[in-house]
Amino acid sequence: MKNYRLQTNVFLVLLMVITAYSCQQQSEPATPQLDDVPNEILDKIDALGFNSNEVKLYDGTLFIEGDIAISLAELDRLKPDNGLPVEEHYHTDNLVNGTPRTINVYVNMPQRYKDATAIAISRYNSESLNLTFQQVSSSSSADITIKASPWYYYFFGILGSAGFPTAGGDPHNQILMTRAYYDGVSNINGLATTIAHEMGHCIGFRHTDYMDRSYSCGGATDNEGDGGVGANHISGTPTNPDANSWMLACGSPEGDRPFTSNDKIALDYLY
Ligand SMILES: [Zn+2]
Repeated sequence: MKNYRLQTNVFLVLLMVITAYSCQQQSEPATPQLDDVPNEILDKIDALGFNSNEVKLYDGTLFIEGDIAISLAELDRLKPDNGLPVEEHYHTDNLVNGTPRTINVYVNMPQRYKDATAIAISRYNSESLNLTFQQVSSSSSADITIKASPWYYYFFGILGSAGFPTAGGDPHNQILMTRAYYDGVSNINGLATTIAHEMGHCIGFRHTDYMDRSYSCGGATDNEGDGGVGANHISGTPTNPDANSWMLACGSPEGDRPFTSNDKIALDYLY
């Protein structure tokens, strides 16, 4: 999920970032130098249906839709564009299979992140889905590992990142959380919401304001495109944006968005 404020007040955030990093991380460069995205890659992204205007490339990782971190190799494994959706509450073509199934989540971060993950997990498990999440204390049995994002995530306004399930039906195996946003957060439910959001991507959910990210992110109208991983409307969910969905593209670190009634319909439909 991306930070809403970065979209609406870039100057203020950059000022905060510069201040924060001048105090805390003097050894890091003042601004991350993005790599140029080769035209060949942009063409591929266009062909897949992503909005290539907002793609970032840094250290071999493409950032698409704000918080989806895809390696160049993973890009080649995405399915072709199958047409654009028209409504909200979407899922990808790739879902977690082998249900009912337990997904082990390992948090390799300080205690507050474990506490917030426990809240996120309880939100999912309260829905009596065919997926059961549980927090484990060892990386060896983990399906999803949650760990700290690299320092430059803060510059990009990324609260946390994730990816989509594998073609083989396993959840995406990594969530990266930005400690610069959350180490001092007062509302742990805001942290739990972002973890639940990234977990949603790991099991196949797209952003609910997919057709126009400006709904939650502010700024200009911005269609994320089909993305080549499928964007299928979930029946029973509304056609208008769902104001408090946990899968909106942007939010604030402190903002708590537990599942709405439509989110619950979508979760129950998929799992
Ligand atoms: Zn997201």
